Amino acid sequence: MSKVARNPGGPGNGSPDSQTINLAGGAVLHYTAMRLKRYGDLRQDPEWLQGQLASDHSLVLPLWTDKNLFRTLGQSPAPALLQMPDAAQFLASAVEVIYLGHDGERAVFAADLAEQDRGHVKDLIEQSAPGCRFIDLRRVSAVVTPEQASLLAYARVLASWHRNNGFCARCGHRTQPQRGGHMRHCGQCGREHFPRIDPAVIMLVEQPDPEGGQPRCLLGRHTRLPGRVYSTLAGYVDPGETLEQAVAREVWEEARIRVTDIRYVASQPWPFAGSLMLGFRAVSMDAEPDISQDELEDARWFTAAEMRDFGEFEDGNGAEFELPRQDSIARLLIEQWMADSG
Ligand SMILES: [Zn+2]
Repeated sequence: MSKVARNPGGPGNGSPDSQTINLAGGAVLHYTAMRLKRYGDLRQDPEWLQGQLASDHSLVLPLWTDKNLFRTLGQSPAPALLQMPDAAQFLASAVEVIYLGHDGERAVFAADLAEQDRGHVKDLIEQSAPGCRFIDLRRVSAVVTPEQASLLAYARVLASWHRNNGFCARCGHRTQPQRGGHMRHCGQCGREHFPRIDPAVIMLVEQPDPEGGQPRCLLGRHTRLPGRVYSTLAGYVDPGETLEQAVAREVWEEARIRVTDIRYVASQPWPFAGSLMLGFRAVSMDAEPDISQDELEDARWFTAAEMRDFGEFEDGNGAEFELPRQDSIARLLIEQWMADSG
């Protein structure tokens, strides 16, 4: 029996047909279309992993300083999934090799060069991946497919976690990767460290029936956001708090608006901060927001008609207001609400 044949059938964790998040118009929300089967059981077997790594069919995604490798010879950058023998040079230089999962019958690994010397990385590319370049995924997310974005983001967030968890948080001893890079073990105190995901809530607050007017929704301008972007409010979940409580608290803290009827819409892994964004809708009948308490520059109610005049994210067309990034769940929440509100 071949090694690949040991892989069980079924959808694993990746079933893009049924589990992706769709935007208005049917497009798939970025970072929600992971098609790899993760094989959480098989990846605990070092022998099996070694066999996958040695296979000519396996694919390797190189990373360096949080950037993914792209082929740049075509019109727009495409992710570089290297095969043997080219991949071997990157694997040999990698600080961390992580098993990501299987695409069909092919194992996919991430090879993180971490923060190695730029000259060495340049030589490596010239020898084994000519025409390729390391690029920040955020810069090219508009030209990669949702499936590619999901894979690249997954590799990036795991590589970043390894780089930041080389030492045990309990005893300070060096930790070692295990289970294909999905756990780090401390040989000194025995503690097991797992990749950390920070839950954050993001919410569209609406007034479906304001006195004498059209439905409207609350958007804020965060000091962190570029240009004139107005987006849904968001924040991290506090310890000891339910998601719904986090939604209500964040909206109150940021805009002094009270909400009811909080309901879950969808989630999106957000690799750039290692977060899981949990999207909600909520209702408020409060009048004007008060932003004096928080880091918002502005917050106000908008009707769907007003939002149709918003410019695209950072398109530089000088619109008074701009929508959030197309690859964000904020955009999904806004587009869904606009479709519902006419
Ligand atoms: Zn320890």
